[in-house]
Amino acid sequence: MDDSTLILGWAASLVAGLATGLGALVILVQNKFTDRSQDVMMGFAGGVMLSAAGFSLMVPAVERGGHVLATIGIAIGALVLHLLDRTVPHLHPQSGLEGKASRLPKVWLMFLAMSIHNIPEGLAVGLGFGGDGLNTGMITATAIGIQNIPEGLVVALPFFVGGASKWRAIGLATLTGLIEPMASLPGLFLTAALPSVLPLGLAFAGGAMLFVVSDEMIPESHRKGFEREATLGFVGGFLAMMLIEGMFT
Ligand SMILES: [Zn+2]
Repeated sequence: MDDSTLILGWAASLVAGLATGLGALVILVQNKFTDRSQDVMMGFAGGVMLSAAGFSLMVPAVERGGHVLATIGIAIGALVLHLLDRTVPHLHPQSGLEGKASRLPKVWLMFLAMSIHNIPEGLAVGLGFGGDGLNTGMITATAIGIQNIPEGLVVALPFFVGGASKWRAIGLATLTGLIEPMASLPGLFLTAALPSVLPLGLAFAGGAMLFVVSDEMIPESHRKGFEREATLGFVGGFLAMMLIEGMFT
């Protein structure tokens, strides 16, 4: 991989991460969303994420490395996320405190929750560019960017409702997105230095995202009582991402 792909890959992960802030900006004009519409948005983001994990990460991992290697990678990715979720103290707006007990302020605990969630997303973009470069990378970056928009809004709202000013809520949501360009770096450099780890890396990121979708996105989107609406949003997100994937290939 040449330097320009590295730089472009990093820039793409930055733009995808900043999409979180773009979604958060919506609270400037509209900050009252019904529980139903929040569930639909969260479901949509989860659907895009699952679709990206499957089509952009796991399928290429199987194609390049075979089923056994991909299975191992997915399992390790899910396991690492499980361990992070267990050890790092964090707070989900709906499901409450998880991980080790902590005296950190609520805002930072919520921030940590989103950071854990965004690490596999950033890593996925980095690995995408590390692979055959532009095409896979752009698909992954687009997927992550798209689902970060509703996610940014859904993340900024609880900061705002929790007492932060609008701009502080937007700033915090944007910061969670900036985890992604940081997490993309190991993905980019690892695949640049050792191209043979790519299938394992793609599977790892896919497994980590699979964990986030099941452990966090689906339960969070179902907790307010609009399961069916959330599911429709989820299917919509999955299909939208599938079509976008088709546009690139
Ligand atoms: Zn996300």
